[in-house]
Amino acid sequence: MIPAPFDYQRPTTVADALQLLADNGDEAKVIAGGHSLLPMMKLRFAQPAVLVDIGNIDELKGIVTSGDRIVIGATSTHATVAGSALLAERVPLLAHAASQVGDPQVRHRGTIGGSLAHSDPAADLPVAVVAADATMVIVGPSGRREVHADDFFRGPFETAVEPDELLVAVSVPAATGIGWGYEKFTQRANDWGMVGVAVSGARVVLGGVAGVPWRATAVEEALRSGTPVDRAAALATDGVSPAGDIRADERYRKHLTVVLTGRALRAAGYS
Ligand SMILES: Cc1cc2nc3c(=O)[nH]c(=O)nc-3n(C[C@H](O)[C@H](O)[C@H](O)COP(=O)(O)OP(=O)(O)OC[C@H]3O[C@@H](n4cnc5c(N)ncnc54)[C@H](O)[C@@H]3O)c2cc1C
Repeated sequence: MIPAPFDYQRPTTVADALQLLADNGDEAKVIAGGHSLLPMMKLRFAQPAVLVDIGNIDELKGIVTSGDRIVIGATSTHATVAGSALLAERVPLLAHAASQVGDPQVRHRGTIGGSLAHSDPAADLPVAVVAADATMVIVGPSGRREVHADDFFRGPFETAVEPDELLVAVSVPAATGIGWGYEKFTQRANDWGMVGVAVSGARVVLGGVAGVPWRATAVEEALRSGTPVDRAAALATDGVSPAGDIRADERYRKHLTVVLTGRALRAAGYS
């Protein structure tokens, strides 16, 4: 399958990228790793006339410490995030979740910004950033704004990033010494999760059960009042009705969710 023809632009600054988005309006689309956008273009689910490739913008690269937070540039690849010694020490959940994305080829092209902006309900990183209490840094024509991960994901393939804006970074509080766990169940190796569960301290987040990463607040409340893991995990699907699909019906997905929540909680140190 071959995408429809498009113009290709490769700006070297965020300002130039924003100008290209402003100049081309609905006709333009940002491309980062291309691992979600290009398949959509081949299937004609997306047909942008102009691609704005942000892969050559140095400001969007790198993983640095800023006070008690770690700031991850949007075009950091999954492999970079997974292999970061800084993240392994300060936000290990995020490094581990990135290591679970697809296969080595996908991890060497796909970016954290692309994965979050794409907002696939089955993806690994959206669940991880919500559990990690992250904040998204967005830049657009009216300046810079920050959106907490809890408010960033608006629905399947829909986020707080407007078409004329760029997600430039993810800012995560350092969580050294905080218990964490990440569990993902796949049908085949290197696949999207049928269900994913991320735990970081008191935050418990489910993937693959709703259109956006789902805070399992009933589990969080039960843990706060000292409920043992198995009884707390049994509450994981309270308030959510996972859709059935070709890989799992609703009942099986709920069962997986409870089992994986229990495992992730134990990995995070709950008993
Ligand atoms: C074979 C295969 C297996 C995969 N397996 C998994 C998996 O197991 N788990 C998983 O989570 N994902 C998986 N993925 C998806 C992968 O993680 C993608 O890399 C990711 O979803 C998109 O990142 P990207 O950099 O490739 O974004 P792109 O495809 O370039 O862009 C995706 C979307 O985000 C927008 N965008 C990108 N960057 C920005 C930005 N900085 N600001 C604003 N908008 C932006 C684009 O306009 C586009 O709409 C898989 C993909 C493939 C092809």
